[in-house]
Amino acid sequence: MSEHLHPTQLLAFDREHILHPYASMTAPLPNQLVTSARGAELHLADGRTLIDGMSSWWSAIHGYNHPVLNAAATAQLGRMSHVMFGGLTHEPAIELGRRLLDVCPSGLSRIFYSDSGSVSVEVAMKMAVQYWQAQGRENKCRMLSLRRGYHGDTFAAMSVCDPVTGMHSLFGNSLHRQFFANAPTCRFSDTWDPNDIDSLREQLELHSEQIAAVILEPIVQGAGGMFFYSPTFLREARSLCDRFDVLLIADEIATGFGRTGKLFACEHAGISPDILCIGKALTGGYMTLAATLTTDRVAEGISGDGGVFMHGPTFMANPLACAVATASLDLLLSTPWQDRINAIASQLQRELSPCKAFAGVADVRVLGAIGVVELTEPVDMAKIQPAFVSEGVWIRPFGKLVYVMPPYVIGSEQLSRLTSAVVNVTGKIRTGT
Ligand SMILES: *Cc1c(COP(=O)(O)O)cnc(C)c1O
Repeated sequence: MSEHLHPTQLLAFDREHILHPYASMTAPLPNQLVTSARGAELHLADGRTLIDGMSSWWSAIHGYNHPVLNAAATAQLGRMSHVMFGGLTHEPAIELGRRLLDVCPSGLSRIFYSDSGSVSVEVAMKMAVQYWQAQGRENKCRMLSLRRGYHGDTFAAMSVCDPVTGMHSLFGNSLHRQFFANAPTCRFSDTWDPNDIDSLREQLELHSEQIAAVILEPIVQGAGGMFFYSPTFLREARSLCDRFDVLLIADEIATGFGRTGKLFACEHAGISPDILCIGKALTGGYMTLAATLTTDRVAEGISGDGGVFMHGPTFMANPLACAVATASLDLLLSTPWQDRINAIASQLQRELSPCKAFAGVADVRVLGAIGVVELTEPVDMAKIQPAFVSEGVWIRPFGKLVYVMPPYVIGSEQLSRLTSAVVNVTGKIRTGT
């Protein structure tokens, strides 16, 4: 095993043996071989460079190979990469915790570190259920979620994803049965339509005795449709949770750390959840780390009578990840991040708007550093992926959605490369007629 394989041999092995996300196990579409990355660029083994439009799924907000994050990782590596978190603690976890409590929505006071976004959602649901159990309300053990939501791929997380797009049909009876309310339809800057919250209220009226928590993605329904909804919906949801004695779980795994133009999307509505999930951009895309934060009320509810919270991942609070996350958060807050996001937003707005005229395009929308072109038909991945690569950009559509969410450090010329690729590629899409 000492010899390095040639890139074509690497790709052949990958194709035969390495599984990729949401892909065929036997006949996968081709993958690009990346050898290094820097700033907003990915370097491929064949010598090509692609401008990154995905931030590696919301995470690489500072771009790749950032000297400050590299230094934080290296410094921590010299101390220790990991120690168990049961009975031990360390400065990286504590320093990150201090910063998170400083910037996260108010009222949150306890942090549970875990290894991925989906796990942080599982942890949030367990907190909510354990809370009501400890109050003697065993029936309050189900979740109320929004249609078109996305909360991750593990079993409990899947059970609160959209029942249609969220793969429920593939897993049938093995999923927990949850309650669902209609997705918001009132857009981010629309005037509020009070009917938009009716379905959520009805579900609570009918089932609140069985509901531990409402779980939702604040403002941006991400993988379930990239839809930006009215902050009033979120405010109404918060007050309904209080009225019906149900906890609110905000899943900010995608929206956290500035992506929507606020540090957390909850800020658009001025609300705080009872439980908050964060992940993805937490380490600036360096390694996997997530966290579930909650309030004194939930913590005391679970442990007031001596109870313990029953979860504990092996790699809980991994020091390397915590050290990089601390550096990433400091880096973000030391830059004029809000100005940058606003600049990205107006450029996306301006440069993606020509797409509105195309036959195959249903809608174009922008919020913060997220630009979405919604098509009338699902894309053909086998065709559209190579089309973007030959435009020199890394954009990975899904379903009817072509979208970009670049690293915040992207230059305006690089961003124009992304948007003109979107315009060129979506302009060539022919509808079924
Ligand atoms: C990506 C995502 C998750 C799942 O996070 P993983 O780290 O992929 O497990 C959960 N919720 C939202 C809103 C996400 O965008």
